[in-house]
Amino acid sequence: MGLVVHKYGGSSVADAASVRRVAQRIVETVKNGDDVAVVVSAMGDTTDELIDLAEQVSPNPPARELDMLLTAGERISMAVLAMAIADLGYQARSYTGSQAGFITTAAHGSAKIIDVTPGRITEAIADGAIPIVAGFQGVSQDTKDVTTLGRGGSDTTAVALAAALNADRCEIYTDVDGIFSADPRIAPKARKVPVITYEEMLELAANGAKVLHLRCVEYARRSGMPLRVRSSFSDSLGTLVTSSYELEGVAVEAPIISGVAHDLAEAKITIGGVRDEPGRAAAVFELLADAEVNLDMIVQNVSAAGLTDITFTLPMSHGDIALAVLRENKGNIGFETLAYDDKVAKVSLVGAAMRSHPGVSATTFRALADAGINVEMISTSEIRISVVTRAEDATRAVQAIHTAFGLDADGEAVVYAGTGR
Ligand code: ADP
Ligand code: ASP
Ligand code: MG
Repeated sequence: MGLVVHKYGGSSVADAASVRRVAQRIVETVKNGDDVAVVVSAMGDTTDELIDLAEQVSPNPPARELDMLLTAGERISMAVLAMAIADLGYQARSYTGSQAGFITTAAHGSAKIIDVTPGRITEAIADGAIPIVAGFQGVSQDTKDVTTLGRGGSDTTAVALAAALNADRCEIYTDVDGIFSADPRIAPKARKVPVITYEEMLELAANGAKVLHLRCVEYARRSGMPLRVRSSFSDSLGTLVTSSYELEGVAVEAPIISGVAHDLAEAKITIGGVRDEPGRAAAVFELLADAEVNLDMIVQNVSAAGLTDITFTLPMSHGDIALAVLRENKGNIGFETLAYDDKVAKVSLVGAAMRSHPGVSATTFRALADAGINVEMISTSEIRISVVTRAEDATRAVQAIHTAFGLDADGEAVVYAGTGR
């Protein structure tokens, strides 16, 4: 008998019938002898709908109130799931993030978990009840206000709860059968991978594969919590995220490429005609850092006539503030032009075995060239190659790279539900 944390994403609890199906799965797990603590997301696209509602009321809603609004989504799903479990003759108790002991920083919309004190959750389990915890929320240690962890943050709630409860494992239930070699919504030939390392999953999540929240993978790696990503719509075992290429104690071969990720949420800024002398780049990036703009790729061109261009990518949501800061400081930085482009995509291939395999870049660029796709920027790490392309080329770029590395599966990947929103 063990303790397992289950997390159910929005598409798994999208309507009453889905909630009842999930309740059944939880009860089956309990019948098989395990204790279960559950983390649940808001039903279907509720979070997006609440954001739309807020924007209709105010184009710039106060962050405190937006968090209060968004946490209501998970309150609905946790309560109805508890009801569905009760209907099956089992005790269940729902808890908000604050009640479950999730203490966070005060940063609304992107709060970090500082501590988890799950006293009420352990009590519920000891009483023979199934605790249901609202995902992606907590309470600020300083302000005592309700906070959210950022979009997709219920995955992080689940891993943090599993670590705090010293659970044996954490299972993330979603609308696809596990982690695939590319997003099955855009690459139907994607294949499910049986196992992937934390290291590779971190790179994939950081580069747009939203199947797991980035911080959940960081948390799992830090606490050594084995994670399983599986579907709530099938009995497939899913994908194990762990520290090495091993399944049930047996080593398996690491693939050269474990996955191809794409990200359509980045934008590109080019600062043209910057004087090529010490201190110019520092001035630009200090200003952006002070404005808390997150930068991703950075490229500086060779200079001509003492002038150069600096191009960087950033989250689209940081675009306005970055442009404003740069414009305000045009005089101190000293540049001629400023261009903003959000019709770009970042496509990244990730694989730990890239370290020992030459020719990965050559295969990648040949595949893109043969597909007639222009590469605008390139960046690499030891286990990743990323390129920036036109947004409209993203799907074809992912598919071309996927095929070039022999990753295409025979059948088509199944996407069970969800709108991909
Ligand atoms: P949930 O609501 O369950 O949290 P998400 O929508 O956040 O689900 O994440 C699941 C989705 O992640 C899938 O439907 C799929 O479109 C997308 N995805 C992106 N990259 C991958 C990948 N490499 N493997 C599997 N799914 C992926
Ligand atoms: N409901 C939140 C969201 O849609 C949190 C989550 O589902 O992980 O982002
Ligand atoms: Mg998610």
